[in-house]
Order: sequence, then C-alpha cells, then structure tokens
Amino acid sequence: MNPVRFIVLAVLFYLLYRLLFGRKKDNLPPKPAPDQVESPAQDVLVQDPVCKTYVPKSQALHETKDGKTYYFCSEECRKRFLDQD
Ligand SMILES: [Zn+2]
Repeated sequence: MNPVRFIVLAVLFYLLYRLLFGRKKDNLPPKPAPDQVESPAQDVLVQDPVCKTYVPKSQALHETKDGKTYYFCSEECRKRFLDQD
C-alpha cells in the first residue's frame, strides 16, 4: 500500500472515531459571555439623518434638536448635522 494513502486513511479513521466518540466530554452548551448579552429590545436600528446609515440605537450618538432626538453613526455626522442651518 502507498504509505501516503495509509496515513490519509489513518487520519480519516481517527477523525471518524473522534466524531463518534469524542463528543461526550464537550456536551455542555457554550455560554455567552455576560458582556455579549444584549437585550434585543434596546437594539433598535435608527437612521442617521446625515449619511442615511442605520445604526443600532445602543451604539448611536444622539442629539436633541427642537424637541426631537436624532441619532448618528459617528461624531462627524453629529457635527455635520449641528452645522446645518
Ligand atoms: Zn453617519
């Protein structure tokens, strides 16, 4: 038998064995890190009036003008908005 083929077969058998029997130890479901858990209700998409990009509300910058709250993707957009009129 070609030795390379033998090695490939051995690796395949090893992987098959791992697949069938090696999973018992890592049966626990992966737990998300606490800082990665976000409440979906808070993560509403809001539109940046300057560049028309949608940004998650939790990450957006906000500015209140004439009693209305506007959300921006970046400080640059916020400044551009405030520089208008
Ligand atoms: Zn923007």
